[in-house]
Amino acid sequence: MRPPTDDFQFIAGNLSLDFVNTIGDRFGTAREYLTSSAELTRGARLAGILPPNGRLTLSPRRLSDVRTARESLYRLFRPLARGGDPSRRGLSQLNTRLESVSGARRLGLRKGIVRWEWLSPARDARSLLAQVYASAAELLVSEHVAAVRQCEGERCGWLFVDRSRSGHRRWCSMADCGNREKARRHLARLRRSAR
Ligand SMILES: [Zn+2]
Repeated sequence: MRPPTDDFQFIAGNLSLDFVNTIGDRFGTAREYLTSSAELTRGARLAGILPPNGRLTLSPRRLSDVRTARESLYRLFRPLARGGDPSRRGLSQLNTRLESVSGARRLGLRKGIVRWEWLSPARDARSLLAQVYASAAELLVSEHVAAVRQCEGERCGWLFVDRSRSGHRRWCSMADCGNREKARRHLARLRRSAR
């Protein structure tokens, strides 16, 4: 059976971290999910940041830029998951990226409520990345930043915001890394008792 983390999952509680988690088993065989425009389109639709009829058509180079942006966000958030501070370099990179997509949104008014509207979601990834970067920036300045964690699964590497009441969430998903760890411990116990 394919593990649940073998495909796009939205377990992070934050869009930018879900975007960071578009690579499976980061510390293992590293399965890339953003392999084509079609896959990026599918993931963005599932994430709800691309309308069902939206279709991204990126050149291989642009697609590679998207993956580079993801890795840059991973490096920015990783120290936070270990109780550290983000690097100034990482913040400066995010500032540059935010500037590069600043034209992709504007304030709109609908039914008396002001909200962000994202321009031209179709084709290129600018609007999509604008939403991802905005979500990263909002997380960084929010109180939830202290709850950024990295899954303790040996190979996983996924990041998430721990919104559990206990504040002790350890796994990206109980159905995946949580279960694997349980099985590993069970096996270790069996081996011990066999000795
Ligand atoms: Zn995990």
